[in-house]
Parts: sequence; C-alpha cells; structure tokens
Amino acid sequence: MSVAIVGGGIAGLAFALALHQRGIGCDVYEGVADVKELGVGITLLPHAMKELAALGLLPALEAVAIENLESVFFNRHGQFVYREARGRHAGYALPELGIHRGKLHRILFEAALERLGRERVHTGRRVSGLSQDAEGVTLRFEPTPSGQPAPVRAEWVVACDGVNSAVRRHFYPDDQVCFAGINTWRGVSVHKPILTGKSYIRIGSIDTGKMVIYPIVDNVDGQGNQLINWVAEIRDPQAAMNDWNRPGRLEDFLPVFDAWRYDWLDVPALITSAQQVFEYPMVDKDALPRWTFDRVTLMGDAAHPMYPRGSNGSAQALVDARTLADEIAATTDRRAALQRYQDTRLPATARVVRTNRTVPPDAIIMKADELSGGQPFSQIDDLISQAELRAISDHYKEVAGFALKA
Ligand SMILES: Cc1cc2nc3c(=O)[nH]c(=O)nc-3n(C[C@H](O)[C@H](O)[C@H](O)COP(=O)(O)OP(=O)(O)OC[C@H]3O[C@@H](n4cnc5c(N)ncnc54)[C@H](O)[C@@H]3O)c2cc1C
Repeated sequence: MSVAIVGGGIAGLAFALALHQRGIGCDVYEGVADVKELGVGITLLPHAMKELAALGLLPALEAVAIENLESVFFNRHGQFVYREARGRHAGYALPELGIHRGKLHRILFEAALERLGRERVHTGRRVSGLSQDAEGVTLRFEPTPSGQPAPVRAEWVVACDGVNSAVRRHFYPDDQVCFAGINTWRGVSVHKPILTGKSYIRIGSIDTGKMVIYPIVDNVDGQGNQLINWVAEIRDPQAAMNDWNRPGRLEDFLPVFDAWRYDWLDVPALITSAQQVFEYPMVDKDALPRWTFDRVTLMGDAAHPMYPRGSNGSAQALVDARTLADEIAATTDRRAALQRYQDTRLPATARVVRTNRTVPPDAIIMKADELSGGQPFSQIDDLISQAELRAISDHYKEVAGFALKA
C-alpha cells in the first residue's frame, strides 16, 4: 500500500511516524523547501504527550521544554482568580510541557528522516491539485525554482496541509476561515521566572483584552532568565483580520495592556522586551460534513482548525494521527479504515472547535468578571469557590479528551 501525506507539520510527521511504527511505508510531501524552527510557544497537554511518548519522543521533548507545574488565572487587575496543578503534578502519568513549536517540529522532522529515510520525506513539494481514479490518486505540485516537479501517484492520500489546506479547498472550493474580530500578537521575551517559573498564566478575558504567558526555555542566558512565550488577544468587531506573515506592531495592541502593571509582573515591560512580535488572526472553521472522499482524507488543522485557546490544535492532530494509523493497521479494507477514522474523529474535534469558541478554559476569568462587574474584588472566594471554577476547567478537559479519569 502506498500512502502519500501532504504536509510535514505536526500532524503529517506524527502520522508518518505512527504508520512506520506499524510497519506501513509512506511518503511525506512538504511545501517548504528548507524546514526551519518556526513559530513561538506551544503547550503539550497530557493527551498530546501520550501520543508523542508512544512514538518514543518523550526524552527528546523533555530535554528542551519546561514542565508546567500549575495553571493560574488572574483578572485584568492582576488579582488571583483560580489555580490548579497540571500534568504529573495533577496525577497524570505524563507531564504537560511548554515548548518552542519549532523545537517540537524539529524533533518530529529528524525522527521522520531517521526512521523513514530521507528519500521518503520530500521537501519543496507544495501540492497544487489532485485527481482520483479507481486505482489511486495523482498529486500535482507547484513549480519550484529548479523546475516543475513530476506528479506522483499514491493509493491513499492524507492531507495534513494545515489551516489553509489546498486539499481541503479541492473538495470545498468555497472554504474560508471564520474570523470573529479577534486578533492576536505573539512574542518571546527573555525575562526572570514569573511566579513559580513553571506557571501557565492567563490574565484578563477576551472582553477586556487577554494575555497568555508561559515559559518555554529555562536559563536561556546563563543568568537564570527564561524565554517567556506570550500571546496578547484583543476582540474588536471593527478590526481587520491580522496577517499571518507580517511582523506585529506594538502600537496596534500595547495600549490595551498599558495599565497592566502588577507587583508580580509588569505586562507592558514583558511585551516591549520581545525581540520580535508576530501577528496572527484568531480563526477557525465550521465543522465539515465529511473529511473522507474515497481515497483521500483530511487530518489536523486541514480537517478541524480551532481557536488556539485550550492548547488543543497539536493535541487533536496527534490523536488524529494515531487513530488513523491504528485503523489502517487493523484492516485490509482501507476505505473502511478511512471512513471509521472520520466517524470517530470528526464529531469529537467538532465539539472541541465549538467549545473553544464558547466555553474555553478562560471562561473562568469571564465568570469572575461577571460576578465582580469587572471591578477589583477583595478576594475571589467572596464571589465564587475554587471548586465551582474547577468545574469549568474540568468540563473543558472532558470535551478535549484529557480528563484525568480518561
Ligand atoms: C509556521 C507555523 C508556525 C506555527 N506556530 C505556532 C505557534 O507558535 N503556536 C501554536 O500553538 N501553533 C502554531 N502553529 C500551528 C500548530 O502547529 C498547528 O495548529 C497544529 O500543530 C496542527 O498541526 P498540522 O500539522 O495540522 O498543521 P501545521 O503545523 O500548520 O502544518 C501544516 C504543514 O503543511 C505544509 N503545507 C501547507 N500547504 C501545503 C501544500 N499545499 N503542500 C504541501 N505542504 C503544505 C506547511 O508548510 C506545514 O508544514 C504553527 C503552524 C505553522 C505552519
């Protein structure tokens, strides 16, 4: 059986490694010619770690990441709202890691080169179109500086080509991202450890402006400072959608956070110390009626892009990868395997997409704001108990598939 994977991002490489582990060969076609360590921070939750550990990547990841101790929520006045232990500290068998997305990608990419062989990982091959017949699928590619790559044939194609998937557009030509007026700016700053130095921190809510802050590299300068990943989110119904590739401009978002100076953190100072700021739109897509079209199926962000609010984009992609690899390995009826994969994963991920829009983990801060009228309070316990706030967090874990009991 020949399997072609379109896109060598997190989903594509994890799927290639999962197939290889089950004795099934495949070829990966990645659009970028030279794979670089791109992106900023990404959080690997226990269900993502379970998939990565099964691929034998736990030691490599732990060596370059920070293990989160806790998740902590504050209102925009810098007041404590809710705290919970995370990963192993909360009783999971596996850690929750904060890591540079580029390092995660590099570890997957090098594992794929080593295990599949360099000749099976084709870079500089951007798929431009496809056609199917009874025996297989033909993939066509965009021209490269050295010429026009020849089309390739495969019996089965799995599209892991991300949020702007060309394969998805082939089946859904009117496909568009959903933008609801929320833009984000991301950066990394060298900064002394904040709180425990292993804290995943959310401040404010999307109604007031929101910051997500967590460390991704320890002792980055030999003086005990960390590389701190931060994301600023602002909702403005009038705003134009941020670009994916343009550098962010401080004047577009810093004023919202100007007064966010607390005795435990100076948010404007953290933002302005970043060497570079990237802008991204917060977009997702409505759930599709189907992902599988005969010999072709969709996976990861190509199938179910979601708001990056609960650290689930990579986790759901990794669960997709293992699920389809298991289905393919379990039967000689490949069509049925692709269909079963869709039947399991499409409804599950559609629920995460919806929940990220409506009740993501930061609903905890929105609840506190609602009860306090957005004003400072003397202590959170006067408004709501930690147990009630934990119920919001536990609901999200259950939807996303990483409740402790699961
Ligand atoms: C450059 C980049 C930076 C990112 N940074 C962050 C970040 O900082 N934090 C975060 O939480 N998430 C980030 N993400 C998103 C995150 O990696 C994904 O949401 C998640 O891991 C799902 O993975 P995926 O493999 O489905 O998609 P992606 O990781 O987006 O991978 C898609 C891959 O397909 C390739 N591709 C696209 N079109 C084609 C085509 N036509 N033919 C062949 N190949 C194609 C892309 O080059 C890419 O390698 C980033 C994604 C990218 C591509």
